[in-house]
Amino acid sequence: MTEHLSTVAGVAVDTRHWIGGERVASAETFTDVSPIDGSTLAEIARGTAMDAAAAVAAAKAAFPGWAATPRAERARLLHAIADGVEKRLEDLAIVETHDNGALLRSHRRGVMPRAAHNFRFFADWLLKLDHEDFDTRGHTNTVSWDPAGPCVLITPWNAPLMLATWKVAPALAAGNTVILKPAEWTPLTASLLADIAAEAGLPAGVLNVVQGYGSEIGDVLTSHPDIRRISFTGSVPTAKRISASAAANLTPLSLELGGKSPLLVFADTDLDLAVDLAVEQYDNAGQVCLAATRVLVEEPLVDEFTRRFVAKAAELRQGDPREATTDIGPNIHPRQLEKIDGFVQRAIAAGARAVIGGHRGAGQHYAPTLLTDVAQDSEIVQEEVFGPVLTLQTFTTEDEAVRLANDTRFGLAATVATGDHERAERVTAQLVAGTVWANCFFVRDLRAPFGGSRHSGVGREGGTWSFDFYCDVKNTVSAPKGWRGHG
Ligand code: NAD
Repeated sequence: MTEHLSTVAGVAVDTRHWIGGERVASAETFTDVSPIDGSTLAEIARGTAMDAAAAVAAAKAAFPGWAATPRAERARLLHAIADGVEKRLEDLAIVETHDNGALLRSHRRGVMPRAAHNFRFFADWLLKLDHEDFDTRGHTNTVSWDPAGPCVLITPWNAPLMLATWKVAPALAAGNTVILKPAEWTPLTASLLADIAAEAGLPAGVLNVVQGYGSEIGDVLTSHPDIRRISFTGSVPTAKRISASAAANLTPLSLELGGKSPLLVFADTDLDLAVDLAVEQYDNAGQVCLAATRVLVEEPLVDEFTRRFVAKAAELRQGDPREATTDIGPNIHPRQLEKIDGFVQRAIAAGARAVIGGHRGAGQHYAPTLLTDVAQDSEIVQEEVFGPVLTLQTFTTEDEAVRLANDTRFGLAATVATGDHERAERVTAQLVAGTVWANCFFVRDLRAPFGGSRHSGVGREGGTWSFDFYCDVKNTVSAPKGWRGHG
């Protein structure tokens, strides 16, 4: 083991950047800590402006070669990366759990297979990406998806590898080179991804990983004139900062941001389903952008719903995310815990009542919380908490339900629970959100557009939408043979 390798749960992780096909150290490091027990996992290279610029230069140098690589070869390499993710699935799952505290069984069964699937899906989509030629007065229009150039991809800590691969895969498939900047609280699996890509044979400089604080290297990356796309998943304040920085070069942005999504429960619903949907919102300790954190229940059902919800939530076991019996792991960081508790205590001081929870749990856990007696314009109803905290409000009419549901500055997702099919159609049509679920939650298909409305995001990714974003879409108009005129 060299000084640049850390062993996390038996897995060797290189703590340096990955730039131009080489491991690069920084003079300084930062400490990566596990939310499970506060132990130090690794000392990670603390990227500087020079490191960020070197990564952009490497991505720029590798771009012409990668852009000219035939689609079939790009797809083959992406499948080889997917193979590598699957081969190292156990390593990735255990390292991610140590790094962000999410459940090991979820990483094994859902999250890491999805990371591999991200590569396979976009490799396959690339091969069938096409548009029928069309005719304008004898001239042929041919639409092509040309590679755009080096892309900066910036990701958060709540689903680190899954969200990184959701960006890296389509960007590479499109023929772009990338600089991935993972969140400083969860830097490890991005480093393993660099190893996997290198082993799969991805040419040097096509994928670069720069570690470090967004506040220190973010601006260098997002204001760089050689960057052709920026895809960011994270919070609204950071998105505003990045947008301002990208404006210098009019660099196109894709922003996937926070939410304050509603769950609308109508009195005609299957109550077991509605309660299950509500309790599911505590998954990942509430650190899910799509979480339906505002539960809106039709008045006649509220007592029965609350009783059943409380009973079901009481069955949730908080604990070590490595244990198979644990339902909720720790929150990511002491600062996040403080933030969550701040929201809850301010809500209680303003008159909210904690039906359950309302306080910290053991270690770095927060007790699953349901707050009622909350005003629509209060902070707890309007702002994203990003912890296991739900609010409960009631409504008496369908119109009121829709009005409350749409009454925040966000628009990421919404869920409707009703036994009436026509009502489901009526209500879902009126909800402002990038994704709306009727009588289900978290069903995701990569062919579908994904993104947020209002402050929940800019743009859509998924299927062809991803290629629309990551490519310079071009229309070539060819005159018929022997044509001498114009138009
Ligand atoms: P964050 O905005 O604090 O950080 C996200 C990333 O941005 C990190 O890598 C960080 O280092 C980087 N960053 C910080 N300052 C920067 C700057 N000035 N320039 C460039 N990069 C900078 O968000 P977070 O706390 O890591 O993540 C939680 C947020 O992400 C929540 O709001 C959540 O809803 C959102 N999220 C959204 C989705 C989605 O798909 N819509 C998915 C997951 C998480």
